[in-house]
Formats: sequence, structure tokens, C-alpha cells
Amino acid sequence: MASGRCTLTIFLPLTYIPFMDSSLAQAKSEFERIFGPGGKIHVIRAPGRVNLIGEHTDYNDGLVLPIAIEPQVLVVCRGRDDGMVRLASTAFQGELAEFSVQRKIERGKPAWSNYGRGVAAELIAAGIPLPGMDALIANTLPVGSGLSSSAAIEIGIAQAFLTIAGLTIDLDRLAVITQKAEHEYAGTPVGIMDMTIVAGARAGHAMLLDCRDLSREYVVLDPKELRVVIANTMLEHELHTGEYAQRRKQCEQGVEFFKKKQEPQIRSLRDVSMQQLTSAKGKLPETIYRRCRHVVSEIARTRDAAALLCRRDYDEFGQRMLESHASLRDDYEVSTPELDFLSTEAMKVKGVYGARMTGGGFGGCIVALAQPRAVDALKDHLTKTYEQKFKVAPEVYVTTAAAGVSVLE
Ligand code: ADP
Ligand code: MG
Repeated sequence: MASGRCTLTIFLPLTYIPFMDSSLAQAKSEFERIFGPGGKIHVIRAPGRVNLIGEHTDYNDGLVLPIAIEPQVLVVCRGRDDGMVRLASTAFQGELAEFSVQRKIERGKPAWSNYGRGVAAELIAAGIPLPGMDALIANTLPVGSGLSSSAAIEIGIAQAFLTIAGLTIDLDRLAVITQKAEHEYAGTPVGIMDMTIVAGARAGHAMLLDCRDLSREYVVLDPKELRVVIANTMLEHELHTGEYAQRRKQCEQGVEFFKKKQEPQIRSLRDVSMQQLTSAKGKLPETIYRRCRHVVSEIARTRDAAALLCRRDYDEFGQRMLESHASLRDDYEVSTPELDFLSTEAMKVKGVYGARMTGGGFGGCIVALAQPRAVDALKDHLTKTYEQKFKVAPEVYVTTAAAGVSVLE
């Protein structure tokens, strides 16, 4: 883990953010338009997330370094006495989901409501009694762009239920419950990172999360010195594809190899050192060797990068981002020409420390770390050059490290 000196010890109160006034008022008036006025209305805010480094390490018991981002969802909600849950979303105008917390909750339509159904079902299964509610999801976070809109709505909806019920539960427990909801009700084999950062992020900090035991350190990401810029290739990212499953399988094959070599203490690639890996060269099939080399080096890089961020050595941190990208491109083979292009172009702008693909790959986004004054030029450059080459404008988001889920009202 990074140096303990960087661990945040004070609790940051969740801040009231004035610029959210207009979108908050808008969301509330939309809620009343759909569900009618009156009663006690609560508003929950849940952010998206981006991973700065540590890719394809989560399912190998490794390290990740995500931040929560400013794009977010608001969940406007009000309790109901009859146990019914009605869900609406500004992203899916005119669609309404309805189910009861007093009956077995099944998957249903519209498809997006399965995240809410799953969250309700898994909270109840965990022994938490839920009230009925009306809830509207309003988003500035793009849907399905790799910035974890799914975890944002899950954590947001869960927090909505808990707030109405007047209950609090441990955020890590909430992360595990919502992860189960996504597995069971959305059928996505998502790791624990998304929910953990959406729930537990601290403003102005990245989270160095150990996916083996969920221990973490918060590392300062100073908004006075840094911006995180995210650019979307606008290509579909598909976690469900065979490629993702194949990479996981290849990692397991690597682990099997080391276990067979009478190294029973090895439970996952987290336990394999670079030295052990290097001595397996020529014995492991070449592809498996390269897959393992990505994971083993990426875990070390992530640890290293967190320590560099701690020391405010942004140039070196940026180098680790570039190495991460090269490893994902060449060894893990999950990048695309679009991701390579955006990462390369980002580095041409003065004041950009590093850039890399982020998320599972095969589309989705790149993430760059930059000086605040470099942001406008970076945004312009990426938009212009990408559009010229790929005939589609990338969506670009500029953010600081935001706080995790919060109750605004
Ligand atoms: P992401 O990377 O954004 O998490 P996912 O494919 O995991 O992508 O999740 C996207 C799905 O989450 C959408 O297809 C939709 O079902 C649901 N979702 C996300 N945001 C919203 C929203 N604002 N309103 C309703 N459903 C949403
Ligand atoms: Mg998701």
C-alpha cells in the first residue's frame, strides 16, 4: 500500500454543492410532475467513477486506484405506505417500473429497472426491512459509458430506501449487497470496485483499494493541482463479451500452472512475483505468459503509482499510466485503435502528465491526468483530432475527485 502518511484521518463532511441547485430543483419538479406533490421528499446523490490505474487486476485479487467523479445521478424519492415501489428515470422518459417489497421481487421491464429490483430484493434478503417508495433517477452521468452508471443507480436507490426507512448500514456491506444485485438481477459479473468507490469515495482523494480484502488507503488528489479528464471513444464497451471471460480464464490457467509447480500458497496472480513469472517464461504458453505479465506488472505499478501520487510526483505517476496502457495493449490485448489514438493524442498537449485506457477495454473511455490549466486545450485537441479521424465526436468530461454517495435533502 502507499505510505501511511497519506492516509486521510479526518472525516470530511459531505459538502453542500451550490452549483447543483438548478439540476436539483429540476429533478424535484420532474418528480412531482410524475408522482404528484406533497409528503417528505429526499434527494440522494451518487457519483460515477473512473479508475486511474489498476486494470484487470480486480478479479486477480489485485489493487485498483479509482476516484468518484462529478457526473452523477440524483435519486429523488418519497416513502409509500403500501409497500409499492415505482421507479422512473429521466434517461428513459415515459417508462415506469412497479413492484412490491411485500412480494417476491422478480426481474421485469423496463430492463433498467432490474438494477432497482435487484437492490430491493438483496437488501430484503440481507434482513433489512424496506418501505415502499416512489423514486425518480435524474442523471448527468452518461448511461452505459463505462463510468459505472450501474453502480451509481444501485447505490443511489439503496441509499434512497435506507433514508426513507431511517436506517444506516455499513458502506462496505452496502457495496457487497449491490454487487450481488447486479450479478443476480442484471446478469453482469461485475467486480467489487465500482460499488466500493461509489459508496466510499472521499472528495479530493483517490482510493487505493485492495480487492483481496477490501482494505484501502485514501490518497490525496489535490484539486488545486490536478484535473482528471475522461474521453469516451463512443464505442460500445461490453463486459459480457467472450473476450472478458476468456481473459479471466487465461488468468486462472496461469494460477493453475504455478500451483502445479508445487507452490500451493499461490491462490491468485496477486501471489505471483515478477521473478516467479520470469522463470516460467518458455514453460507457460506464450499468450498465458503475456496475460500474466500484464496482471503481475499492473498490480506492482498500481502500488507504485499510489505512492507517487502521495508524493505529488505527477510526472512519474503519468509514466505509470503510459506503461499501464502499453501493457493492456500489447500483453493483455484489450485496447483498440480508438483508445490508442486518444491516449497518444492526449500526451501531445502541454501539461498532461499521463493517459491510458480505463475500464475493461474494447471501447469505453481513456483517462488522463492533467494540470488544471491544460484542460481546455486537451479537450479541444481530443475532440478535433478524434472527430477528424473517426468521424464521431468523443464525449469529454473534466472532473476532480468527488465524494461518495450522500444524502442532499
Ligand atoms: P456503466 O459502465 O455505465 O455502469 P453498465 O452497462 O454496467 O454501464 O450499466 C448501464 C445500465 O445501467 C443501463 O443500460 C441501464 O440499464 C442502467 N442505468 C444506468 N444509468 C441509468 C439511469 N440514469 N436511469 C436508469 N437506468 C440507468
Ligand atoms: Mg456498470
